[in-house]
Amino acid sequence: MPVELQRTFCRICEAHCGLVAEVERANQRVLRLIPDREHPVSRGYCCAKGLRLCEVHHDPDRLDFPRKRGPGGFERISWEQALSEIGAAPRRRTRSASTGSFAPVRTPICCSACCMCW
Ligand code: SF4
Repeated sequence: MPVELQRTFCRICEAHCGLVAEVERANQRVLRLIPDREHPVSRGYCCAKGLRLCEVHHDPDRLDFPRKRGPGGFERISWEQALSEIGAAPRRRTRSASTGSFAPVRTPICCSACCMCW
Protein backbone atom coordinates (compact mmCIF):
# COMPACT_ATOMS: atom_id res chain seq x y z
CA MET A 1 0.00 0.00 0.00
CA PRO A 2 1.52 3.37 -1.00
CA VAL A 3 2.65 5.58 1.86
CA GLU A 4 3.10 9.35 1.58
CA LEU A 5 5.12 11.60 3.84
CA GLN A 6 3.29 14.67 5.12
CA ARG A 7 4.90 17.47 7.12
CA THR A 8 2.97 18.41 10.24
CA PHE A 9 3.63 19.44 13.83
CA CYS A 10 2.82 18.34 17.35
CA ARG A 11 -0.05 20.22 19.01
CA ILE A 12 0.48 19.02 22.56
CA CYS A 13 2.56 21.93 23.84
CA GLU A 14 3.76 25.33 22.72
CA ALA A 15 7.00 24.00 21.25
CA HIS A 16 5.00 22.73 18.26
CA CYS A 17 7.82 20.37 17.25
CA GLY A 18 8.00 19.49 13.58
CA LEU A 19 6.90 16.01 12.63
CA VAL A 20 6.66 13.98 9.48
CA ALA A 21 3.63 11.73 9.21
CA GLU A 22 3.67 8.53 7.21
CA VAL A 23 0.17 8.43 5.75
CA GLU A 24 -1.51 5.53 4.05
CA ARG A 25 -3.63 7.56 1.63
CA ALA A 26 -5.99 4.76 0.59
CA ASN A 27 -7.18 4.34 4.17
CA GLN A 28 -6.54 7.93 5.30
CA ARG A 29 -4.52 6.48 8.16
CA VAL A 30 -1.44 7.92 9.85
CA LEU A 31 0.91 5.00 10.31
CA ARG A 32 3.76 6.67 12.14
CA LEU A 33 5.16 10.03 13.18
CA ILE A 34 8.85 10.77 13.02
CA PRO A 35 10.76 13.93 14.01
CA ASP A 36 11.26 16.43 11.19
CA ARG A 37 14.99 17.03 10.98
CA GLU A 38 14.40 19.90 8.52
CA HIS A 39 12.04 21.83 10.81
CA PRO A 40 13.67 25.26 11.33
CA VAL A 41 12.99 25.39 15.07
CA SER A 42 12.83 21.86 16.51
CA ARG A 43 15.44 20.51 14.03
CA GLY A 44 14.65 16.87 14.61
CA TYR A 45 13.76 17.11 18.29
CA CYS A 46 10.55 15.48 19.41
CA CYS A 47 9.65 14.07 22.80
CA ALA A 48 7.96 10.72 23.45
CA LYS A 49 4.52 12.33 23.74
CA GLY A 50 4.72 13.77 20.24
CA LEU A 51 5.87 10.52 18.73
CA ARG A 52 2.90 8.70 20.28
CA LEU A 53 0.23 11.08 18.94
CA CYS A 54 -0.85 8.43 16.43
CA GLU A 55 -2.17 6.38 19.29
CA VAL A 56 -4.23 9.31 20.53
CA HIS A 57 -5.46 10.00 17.00
CA HIS A 58 -6.56 6.39 16.44
CA ASP A 59 -7.90 5.77 19.93
CA PRO A 60 -11.44 4.33 19.68
CA ASP A 61 -12.58 6.62 22.52
CA ARG A 62 -11.40 9.78 20.75
CA LEU A 63 -14.17 12.24 19.96
CA ASP A 64 -14.32 13.09 16.26
CA PHE A 65 -17.33 15.37 16.55
CA PRO A 66 -18.80 17.79 19.10
CA ARG A 67 -21.21 16.63 21.76
CA LYS A 68 -23.54 18.56 24.00
CA ARG A 69 -25.00 17.51 27.30
CA GLY A 70 -28.74 17.01 26.99
CA PRO A 71 -31.45 15.49 29.14
CA GLY A 72 -30.52 12.00 27.94
CA GLY A 73 -26.76 12.47 28.24
CA PHE A 74 -24.29 13.69 25.65
CA GLU A 75 -25.67 14.01 22.14
CA ARG A 76 -23.88 14.60 18.88
CA ILE A 77 -24.27 18.12 17.48
CA SER A 78 -22.96 19.77 14.32
CA TRP A 79 -19.70 21.74 14.23
CA GLU A 80 -21.75 24.76 13.16
CA GLN A 81 -23.94 24.52 16.29
CA ALA A 82 -20.95 23.90 18.57
CA LEU A 83 -18.96 26.87 17.27
CA SER A 84 -22.02 29.11 17.32
CA GLU A 85 -22.86 28.27 20.94
CA ILE A 86 -19.24 28.46 22.09
CA GLY A 87 -18.85 31.83 20.37
CA ALA A 88 -22.04 33.12 21.96
CA ALA A 89 -20.79 32.50 25.52
CA PRO A 90 -18.05 35.16 25.56
CA ARG A 91 -20.36 37.62 23.81
CA ARG A 92 -22.96 37.12 26.56
CA ARG A 93 -20.31 37.61 29.24
CA THR A 94 -18.93 40.71 27.56
CA ARG A 95 -22.39 42.24 27.50
CA SER A 96 -23.02 41.47 31.15
CA ALA A 97 -19.54 42.40 32.47
CA SER A 98 -19.22 45.83 34.04
CA THR A 99 -16.03 46.54 32.05
CA GLY A 100 -17.55 45.39 28.77
CA SER A 101 -14.46 43.34 27.98
CA PHE A 102 -13.46 39.72 27.86
CA ALA A 103 -10.01 38.13 27.65
CA PRO A 104 -9.38 34.45 27.00
CA VAL A 105 -6.32 33.28 28.92
CA ARG A 106 -4.16 30.28 28.18
CA THR A 107 -1.28 29.42 30.44
CA PRO A 108 2.10 28.56 28.90
CA ILE A 109 2.03 25.11 30.46
CA CYS A 110 -1.47 24.39 29.24
CA CYS A 111 -1.57 21.58 26.69
CA SER A 112 -3.59 21.36 23.51
CA ALA A 113 -5.76 18.78 25.20
CA CYS A 114 -7.27 21.68 27.14
CA CYS A 115 -8.45 23.10 23.84
CA MET A 116 -10.44 19.92 23.39
CA CYS A 117 -11.98 20.32 26.85
CA TRP A 118 -13.82 23.54 26.29
S1 SF4 B 1 6.89 16.72 20.73
FE1 SF4 B 1 6.89 17.03 22.96
S2 SF4 B 1 8.02 18.96 23.24
FE2 SF4 B 1 7.42 18.87 21.09
S3 SF4 B 1 5.45 19.98 20.95
FE3 SF4 B 1 4.99 17.81 21.26
S4 SF4 B 1 4.77 17.56 23.47
FE4 SF4 B 1 5.83 19.49 23.12
